[in-house]
Formats: sequence, C-alpha cells, structure tokens
Amino acid sequence: GDLPPHLRVDELLHEAYGRYRGLRTGTVADYIPALAGADPDLFGLSLMAVDGEVHEAGAVAAPFSLQSISKAFVFALVCEELGHEEVHERIGVNNTGLPFNSVMAIELNHGSPMNPMVNAGAIATTAMVPGPSAAERWEHVRHGLSRFAGRPLTLDGAVYRSEALTNQRNRALARLLESYGRLVEDPLETVDIYTRQCSLSVTARDLAVMGATLAAGGVNPLTGEQVVSAEVSRDTLAVLASCGVYERSGEWMFEIGLPAKSGVSGGIVAVAPGKGALGAFSPPLDDAGNSVRGGRACAFLSRALGLNLFASS
Ligand code: GLU
Repeated sequence: GDLPPHLRVDELLHEAYGRYRGLRTGTVADYIPALAGADPDLFGLSLMAVDGEVHEAGAVAAPFSLQSISKAFVFALVCEELGHEEVHERIGVNNTGLPFNSVMAIELNHGSPMNPMVNAGAIATTAMVPGPSAAERWEHVRHGLSRFAGRPLTLDGAVYRSEALTNQRNRALARLLESYGRLVEDPLETVDIYTRQCSLSVTARDLAVMGATLAAGGVNPLTGEQVVSAEVSRDTLAVLASCGVYERSGEWMFEIGLPAKSGVSGGIVAVAPGKGALGAFSPPLDDAGNSVRGGRACAFLSRALGLNLFASS
C-alpha cells in the first residue's frame, strides 16, 4: 500500500516531534572533537514520499556532518559502478556484531572487512571508487552523494580537519586491511577520502531526499534523476537492513522493521521501499551510536504509518 493521506502523515510527523522533543537521554559524540559542541536540543524530522511530497517538523535545515550515513550512499555508487558480485566478494554483507570501528571483527574473520557499513568495510568500499587521482575520486564521491541529495553538497572544513587529526584508528584499520592484501589502493589516501565523505554537510531534509531516492528505485523525487538502478537501491537497502544501525541492527529490525542508516553526528535515514523516507537529526546518541530521539521517532512513525516491512497488512 501507499503512505496514508498527506494530512494524516503531517499530523503524525508533528506528533512524533512533540513526543520526543523533550527527551533528555543520550550523549553527544565527542571522540571527534568538532562534534562535541553540537547543541543537544536540536531535533528535526523530514519525511519525503516517493512522489516528492514533504512533511517536516523542527530543525530540518540545521547542518550537520553526514558521518556514517555516507557509507550507505558510497556503497550504492560503487555497487552501480562495479556490480553486486564484486562488492559481495570484496567487502561482504554480514553484520559483525561488534562496534563500528572494531579491529577484532577483521581479525576474527581472516582480514575480511565484513560489510560496507562498518569503518573497515566502508574504507574498503571507498577504495573501490574509480578515478585517476585522489582528487578526482573524492570529486566522484562528492558529486555522487550530491545527486542523491538533489543539491551540491559541500565539506564541513572544521569537522574534516578535526577528524583528520584524530582518525588514527581508521588509518590503523586501513593498514590492517592492507596487511591482509584486502586493500591494494593507497590506504592513507583512501582514509582521507573516507574522512571527507563523512564530513559532508547535510540537513535532515537532505537525508529524507537521499533516502527517498533509494525508496523510489534510485530516482531522486526532487530532480527526477536516476541516480542508481532499482537493483542497486534494493541491494543497498538489504545491507542497511542487516548492518545499518551498528550492533542494534537486529533490535531495530525487530522493533521498527525498516532499513536505516545512522551516523555519530546524530543523523538517521530510514527507508520505506516504494513509499518514502524519514530523515531525522538529533545529536544525543545511545551507547551503540544511534540518535535517541531519531530512533524513537522512527519507531513511532513506522508503527503509526504502517511501514514495518514484515507486517502482512
Ligand atoms: N567518521 C566517523 C568515523 O569514522 C563515522 C562514524 C560513524 O558515524 O559511525 O569514526
């Protein structure tokens, strides 16, 4: 079925905003120094239907860095360029059950990065972006993610510089993959592009458009552009279903029943295939790294709008 009538969707979105706006649990990420200063009260919800209709409440135009949410869309771009087989073989699609920056996950799996939604797998995915130089590969990523957003995305220079100075662990993950022969591209150059993609500045509204593009089989509802194929959109959503919200992916699917991707700056994009997507932003995170208000809003709206993929009616 479709989404409920637009007025009803609008009403429920505002209800979700009102319910969770006052929630005071969670902590703002501070392992990247530039993220620590985020306003914990910020909360925005933007829902875009596949026909381009938008519903919004709260801080939907407040900028924040894309962080891990970039992993979903870079994966889609690489899948589009290189194909399903290649990414399955080189990266993998199984959940690690371990934190997003785990070294153990690689060690326990004979050097496999495991899946494109943890840092090791995302770095290995970014390494597969085609292009003759690092600058051109970065531009390829920035341009590709901008096509998902339907507007040119730009780097948040302060977040980029802050993370570049403190991402020793990501550099170590890349070197570890290299030692297993799993990263033939330049590890530090690849981590730099990965750090840049995480530092792209977006809003909750952008997340809704990016997610709605996946919901609509790769066609951006704002621009009408076919950004990736319907098959790649499907494959990307499948990976989000098993690996999109860190170690909470099982619980998320059990409670909410929608593929989603979160990031440490407080963004979440949740996708209802064929219907639309919700972009949520609120900086305080739970202990797995998911926005607390964003997660609660997704749960409420999935129930209220009847979006759970596993429901028979
Ligand atoms: N840039 C962050 C990192 O690599 C992304 C983490 C995240 O959002 O999960 O540590």
